[in-house]
Amino acid sequence: MRTIAFGYSSRCNIRCSHCVAAGEPPESTKMELATAREIINQLAEAGVRGISFTAGEPFVFFDDLLELLECCSKGGIYSRVVTNSLWARDRDQAEARLARLRRAGLSQLRLSYSRWHQQQVPREQVLHAARACQGAGVDYFVSFVTDFSAEDDPYEAYLRDHDLRFFPEPLIYAGRADGLERTPLFTDYQENRCPMNPYLAPDLTMYACCDAGSHFTTTKVFRLGSLRDSTAAELFARSESSPLFHCIRNQGISTIASFAGYRAREIVTHRKCELCKKLFDDPQTLAALEAASARGTLQSWLR
Ligand code: SF4
Ligand code: SF4
Repeated sequence: MRTIAFGYSSRCNIRCSHCVAAGEPPESTKMELATAREIINQLAEAGVRGISFTAGEPFVFFDDLLELLECCSKGGIYSRVVTNSLWARDRDQAEARLARLRRAGLSQLRLSYSRWHQQQVPREQVLHAARACQGAGVDYFVSFVTDFSAEDDPYEAYLRDHDLRFFPEPLIYAGRADGLERTPLFTDYQENRCPMNPYLAPDLTMYACCDAGSHFTTTKVFRLGSLRDSTAAELFARSESSPLFHCIRNQGISTIASFAGYRAREIVTHRKCELCKKLFDDPQTLAALEAASARGTLQSWLR
């Protein structure tokens, strides 16, 4: 099933020190509403069945968002909105917004939550937003961004104490988070397979990866092209037909690193997106891996 992260605008109403979306040039862009509507129709025709409206903060253009959700609903597309909950100042405000989102056909709200977000948005507002979803019968979950340090324990305890549905999301060290201090990481030998959900930026550039991949500025390996020059179906096909991306999805980053000569004890010290960047934002390594995946030798490298 095709899905996509949809960046309608890069504008946000708070400034988090861990923001992965920050630093993507140009800094503050927005699509035309009519263009966004046309693109959603085009995505529906291309077989896209899920759209996630993502960073900047989609509620900054709330009326536009409602129209885009209606387009998704008409096109049979599951819609998710990722938000920082700044709008949920009290229960009444949260419920009023949820009623409008539900009428527009919203499928799911994803509430961003972390010790960085909560420096600017009181955590009670995330609770208001979650309770409003429950009251309106709209699915939700809390995306608990964490670096797995003990500092995050009280934040996790708050979610548990209030019986909120949450999933831990590993902090991605890209964008503004690139400068944050990293604790050493030692994991089991994980496959680190990646589904590679594409991302559409406000300037209509489409990337094969919705997280750190748009920051691979040396090789631009995940840049699929622009909707100004190609159709959505063509750009999806570009991602889906790439032998190297096939390996990322099916064999995983760890197996590719092993093929590239990384020792196992080095592989287990890297986070997934960091390892990905080491492999694919280096022109020489990328060229070797692209050639190996085109020949099929990378695909036959098994643990
Ligand atoms: S992490 Fe989300 S809420 Fe925070 S600045 Fe970035 S887009 Fe805004
Ligand atoms: S592992 Fe690579 S492809 Fe997957 S999300 Fe991270 S940067 Fe993107």
